[in-house]
Amino acid sequence: MSYTELKMLIDGEWTVGTSGKSEDVIDPATNEVLGQVPHASEADLDRALAAAQRGFEEWSNMLPFARQQIMEQAARNLEANKEDIARWCTMEMGKPLAESLVEMDFVIANTRWCGEEGRRAYGRIVPGRAADHRHVVLKEPVGPACAFAAWNFPGTNVIRKIAHALGAGCSMILKPSEETPATAIGIAKAFHDAGVPAGALQIVFGVPDHVSRQLIASPITRKLSFTGSVPVGKHLTRLAADTMMHVTMELGGHAPVMIFDDVDVADAAKQMAAFKFRNAGQVCISPTRFLVQKSIYGDFVDALTEEAKALKIGHGLDEGVQMGPLIAERRVDVMERLVADAKSHGGRVTTGGERVGNQGSFFAPTVIADVSDDAEIMNEEPFGPLAPVSPVDSVDEMITRANRLSVGLAAYAYVKDGHISERLSREVQAGMLGLNTSMISLAETPFGGIGDSGYGSEGGIEGIAAYQQTRMVIERR
Ligand code: NAD
Repeated sequence: MSYTELKMLIDGEWTVGTSGKSEDVIDPATNEVLGQVPHASEADLDRALAAAQRGFEEWSNMLPFARQQIMEQAARNLEANKEDIARWCTMEMGKPLAESLVEMDFVIANTRWCGEEGRRAYGRIVPGRAADHRHVVLKEPVGPACAFAAWNFPGTNVIRKIAHALGAGCSMILKPSEETPATAIGIAKAFHDAGVPAGALQIVFGVPDHVSRQLIASPITRKLSFTGSVPVGKHLTRLAADTMMHVTMELGGHAPVMIFDDVDVADAAKQMAAFKFRNAGQVCISPTRFLVQKSIYGDFVDALTEEAKALKIGHGLDEGVQMGPLIAERRVDVMERLVADAKSHGGRVTTGGERVGNQGSFFAPTVIADVSDDAEIMNEEPFGPLAPVSPVDSVDEMITRANRLSVGLAAYAYVKDGHISERLSREVQAGMLGLNTSMISLAETPFGGIGDSGYGSEGGIEGIAAYQQTRMVIERR
C-alpha cells in the first residue's frame, strides 16, 4: 500500500509552494522515509491569507443549509476513502490500524455533526423594557481562522479544527503536524472534492514557529485554535493578544485515575490498561497517575502489570498489534529519563521500563509501583506508555492529590459509592471527569481543559460557538 503525494492546499490548488524546501516524513516503526512534506514560503502564506479572506466571504454568505449539504458530501467522501486515510495515519504516526479506523469514524461523525449544528446558529430576541423596543442578539462566524494541530491524533486533532470552523461559517488555514501530513491531506481532499470554495479550507506546512508567527500576526486572522503542549500554547496565546483574536487552547494534561476499594479491581485494571496504552500513551487525556486505595493497591498493581505484559507490540499495519511505536526517537529518550528518575524516587518497575528492539522508536508498556509525588513523572506529562501507581489512604487524600497540579484536562475515577462520586463531581478540578468509564470524547459533547490545560472547548455546541461572535441590535419602532 503506497503513501500519498504530499502537497499543500492553497487558494483551491494543490501545490508544493514556492520555498523549494521540504522535510522527510518518517515511519516511526521502521525509520523508513515515506515522503517529503513541502514547506510554505512567506509568499505562499500571504497568498493563503488573502484567499482565506475571500473564502470567508463566499462561505459565510452561503446559506447554512447549502454549507451543510457540502459537509454531508465531505462525510461521504471520507467514508469512501476511510481505509486509505487510516493506513496513511498508521504509516506516519505508528498507531495500530484498528485505532486509525476508529479515529476515522470520529472524523466522519464530527464532520456530520458540525455540518448539522451549523444550521442551528440561532440568535435570540430579548424582551424590551418598553413596548416599542426590541433587542436582537445575532450569532455570526467570527472570520478567517488559523489552527495548528499536533501529531498524536492526525485525524481527530485536524477535524476538530476544520469541522467546527466550517460548520460555523468560518474559513480555516490549518497547519497540521509535519510529522503526520498525509492524514490531514486526505481529510482536506474530501472537503475540497465536496465543493468547499477555494480559500475556505487551506492546508499549509512549514517551520511551525515561522508559520504560526506569520498567520497570527495578520489582521485577516480572527481566530486561533491550537492543540499541543502547554508552553507552546502559552506562547501562541501571547502572540494572539496583539490582534485580540478569539483563542481556543487544547493543551496537555496529567490525568489522575482514582481507584476506590469498592470496585471490581480486575475490571478497572483491564479498562484502564486498554486506555493507558492506546496510542502508546500519546494522548492528552491519557490516564496518567494511578492513585489507588491501600486495601486494593497490591491487587491493582498486579492486575495492571499482567494487562501491560500481555500487549502485542509491533508495526501498526501488522495483524493483531495492540501498541505501536512512539512518534519519534526523541520521545524514547524522554521515557528513559522519566523511568530512571522514578526509580531514583523509590519507584519499582513491575514490567517494561526499557525500549523494545533496535529498529523504530518502540518503548515497552511500563508499570511503575510506589512512585512518590516528587518524581518527575508525577508532575510532567509523560505522553508515552508509562503508568505510575501510588497508594492512597483516604478520600480526602485522593481528592487533594488529584488536584495537585496546575493542569486540569481529564480525570477518571472507579467508584461505586454514590456519595463519593458526587463529591468527585464537585471537587475534582478537570475539564472532563469519567466516572467508571473513559468514554469522554464525542462529537456532541464539549472537550476541553481548565487551568493550564487551556480554555475553550472543541465538540458540542461549545465547539461551534468558539467560532462565532455575538452582536446585538436594539431597535425602537
Ligand atoms: P512540541 O511541544 O514540540 O510539539 C507539539 C506540537 O506543537 C507539534 O505538532 C508541533 O508541530 C507544534 N508546535 C510546536 N511549536 C509550535 C509553534 N511555535 N507554532 C505552532 N505549532 C507549534 O512537543 P512534542 O515533543 O512533539 O510532543 C510532546 C509534548 O507535546 C508532550 O509532552 C505533550 O504535552 C504535548 N502534546 C500535547 C498534545 C495534546 O493533545 N494536548 C498533543 C501532542 C503533543
